[in-house]
Amino acid sequence: MITSDGGQNKVALVTGASRGIGAACALRLAAQGYAVAVNFARSGHEAESVVKQIRADGGRAVAIRADVGAEGAGEELVGETVRRLGPPLVVVNNAGVQRSRAMIRQPREEFDQMLDINVRGAWSVTRAALPHMYDADWGRVVFVSSVLGATGGPGDTGYGASKGALLAMSKSLALEVSRRNITANAVLPGTILTDIVTDVDPAVLEANIAAIAARRGGEPEEVAAVVAFLCSQDASYVSGAEVVVHGGGWLTLPPSK
Ligand code: NAP
Repeated sequence: MITSDGGQNKVALVTGASRGIGAACALRLAAQGYAVAVNFARSGHEAESVVKQIRADGGRAVAIRADVGAEGAGEELVGETVRRLGPPLVVVNNAGVQRSRAMIRQPREEFDQMLDINVRGAWSVTRAALPHMYDADWGRVVFVSSVLGATGGPGDTGYGASKGALLAMSKSLALEVSRRNITANAVLPGTILTDIVTDVDPAVLEANIAAIAARRGGEPEEVAAVVAFLCSQDASYVSGAEVVVHGGGWLTLPPSK
């Protein structure tokens, strides 16, 4: 039984942790004793308020600005985390954007942005953190994908492709690193009530939710609970897994955007 989980100085890095699912993951990991690097790109105030909340609960956290899709962002973000908190042995690749549009109308820039942030960002942050996990002979990597990465969806050729890439990245990484007590897993949320769904037409969102077996959208905390489990010692033999968090799935096809 491997029991090391980073020892006294447990550090987790959560990308895109200023809002939504990432903020919930940061709070949950902090409650489990992790010092948390709360990454954000634009929402500095929100990130600071996540940090404040963690500190008010007696935890350690810092907000670190980095556009994960930018060249060299992974090295910079992980380097800053090491300087301010210590080496991150837990990485939650959560930062993501969704630009939903029929393929025929999607500009190349939107497609590139989703690949840069959702895919290259996750790769470069994980790549930069891995040497620390190798040194510690322990680590946890979670990729926040999407059910759309597995099923696809109308209007989401680009987004679905980016999230599908994370599934392949997670499985490939698990095959590379599991013998070192490092796990890599993917979480596939369904419809979770965060800012990302606010630009969806309310009528479409309502119909989407009515078609979910649970008859409701999920809360960010319900995804964070699964992420936290995958980051825990209890999940030591779970690697290369895909965990759906979608309230039972859709009884009928969700309407297109
Ligand atoms: P959200 O509320 O819009 O939050 C997105 C987060 O990502 C924000 O903290 C944002 O920070 C950050 N972010 C965006 N671009 C970034 C960049 N270039 N660099 C660093 N951070 C960046 O969305 P959410 O619903 O919580 O989504 C979180 C993840 O879950 C995403 O990967 C999303 O694709 C996935 N997901 C969500 C759902 C859903 O229904 N909500 C379903 C499936 C999968 P700033 O505001 O600072 O830019």
